[in-house]
Amino acid sequence: MSLRENLNVVFVGHVDHGKSTLIGRLLYDTKALPDGAIEKVKKISEEEGKKFEYAFLLDAFEEEQRQGITIDITMIQFFTKRRDYVIIDAPGHKEFLKNMISGAASAEAAILVVDAKEGIQEQSKRHGYILSLLGIKKVYVAVNKMDLVDYSEERYNEIVTQFNEFLGNLNIHPESYIPISAFLGENVAKKSEKMSWYKGKSILDTMDGIEKDKGIEKKPLRFPIQDIYKFDNRRIIAGRIESGSLKKGDEVVFYPSLKTTKVKSVEFWQDKDKTDEVSAKMSVGITVEDEFYNKRGEIICHKDSGITVSNSFNANVFWMGKEPFLKGKKYKLKIATQEIEIEIEKIKKVIDAATLQEITGADHINKNDVAEIVIKSQQPICFDAFGDNEALGRFVIIDEFNTSGGGIILGSAEVSKKERETKRLVTKEDRKNKFKELGKLIAINGDNKETNISFAIKLEKKLFDLGQKVYYLDSKEYEKIADILRENGITVIVANREKLSEAVEIIVDEAGKISDNILNII
Ligand code: GDP
Repeated sequence: MSLRENLNVVFVGHVDHGKSTLIGRLLYDTKALPDGAIEKVKKISEEEGKKFEYAFLLDAFEEEQRQGITIDITMIQFFTKRRDYVIIDAPGHKEFLKNMISGAASAEAAILVVDAKEGIQEQSKRHGYILSLLGIKKVYVAVNKMDLVDYSEERYNEIVTQFNEFLGNLNIHPESYIPISAFLGENVAKKSEKMSWYKGKSILDTMDGIEKDKGIEKKPLRFPIQDIYKFDNRRIIAGRIESGSLKKGDEVVFYPSLKTTKVKSVEFWQDKDKTDEVSAKMSVGITVEDEFYNKRGEIICHKDSGITVSNSFNANVFWMGKEPFLKGKKYKLKIATQEIEIEIEKIKKVIDAATLQEITGADHINKNDVAEIVIKSQQPICFDAFGDNEALGRFVIIDEFNTSGGGIILGSAEVSKKERETKRLVTKEDRKNKFKELGKLIAINGDNKETNISFAIKLEKKLFDLGQKVYYLDSKEYEKIADILRENGITVIVANREKLSEAVEIIVDEAGKISDNILNII
């Protein structure tokens, strides 16, 4: 039996725009519901004098799953021929978005549901913003309740334009828009005949067409330690590999302690699971050669794996705590298995997610606000920028015992290279004053590359003998060094680089001799 692929999808959108209905309808159309469920729910609705809602099916479905206790009830699953789907954070759950923010469940794609009649509303925008914050790139917009606007192509186009404008500002470019009626099942599991003007796919076909991101096992290793177990005098380091892969004999570094050792064994419970190599998304246990003290929260990486260890970082946060997120107060930060006391060092700006209005100079962040901040800690924190590695690039903030916020790491807050440059004591200007003019740039070009190079080398010698400051840069070094040399008044010679602005170009013929008259020109 081959392993079935599974895809995590999140449904977001303004309240009452039809998320639950769409999910209920998907469960119904893919026959994920237990036999007779829909009849049962219809009957109950009738008896209670209520209009039937697909959303009721979700409750029935959950009830069923809860009894089975096999599946985490915050997730709803259904499957198609292609694969299994896990719907994360289905609406109706109180903790809407919390799971997503905290990364307890990470969505690979999002379906943003918008009511065709009402159009874009506050939460449509807020959720759009959060998707961008979470770096979810695969966004699909379901334009729902098309039945209420007579399946009008014109109205659909209006919504598409509205959304494109707002989401474009957030750098989200939806993969597609799908006009649907969740309630009537139009364009949900099969193409609607009522909207023949729409040439795209149904919701289900769209979902089946989503390609999963590949290659997480090819990224650098990130193995956060969850626990250490002792078994007959061996210390087994256990955790889930977040990215990359690991095998017996690998040299590994424990961050932030920087202790280095080798992997002695990859543990297994049953003989059939025996393997010497493990990779991303697997929960594993390993032993290492040097049994020094290690603990939960440390991150195991390979050498030079690029992880950052720092006391501060720049981040985008989303706050959902009852109490505001305050400057000067201590909070607990969780990244992978690390738990560290932190505080806000600086609030760069607070953004009203619905209007995208920016407020600077704030000293706290209110519930539902998004902000760009700098976080600092006494203890070193190991992390990646979210764009490089999601698992070590997202965090949660705990206020007392509540998950009150979360966000993504943009990068280290230590002075960037560019900022350092401006703090240099010798400026471009100083050099100019001292050396009066830039060194010349001489480009040696001609049909024969070899001849150009040997000409350049001879020219360097000639000018050098004439007492000039000169340097021949071969092409690999050029980008880095030419400006520096010239700023210091040194003539730079390069070969085989055409169309360089500022260069005195010398076209060399096959003979490639240096004539003294060239020296005069230079
Ligand atoms: P949610 O808050 O986004 O989960 O919204 P619901 O799924 O609970 O839907 C809100 C209301 O809109 C319910 O009364 C639904 O029956 C209704 N609704 C949902 N989809 C459609 C649709 O395609 N057409 C019509 N006419 N009503 C719909």
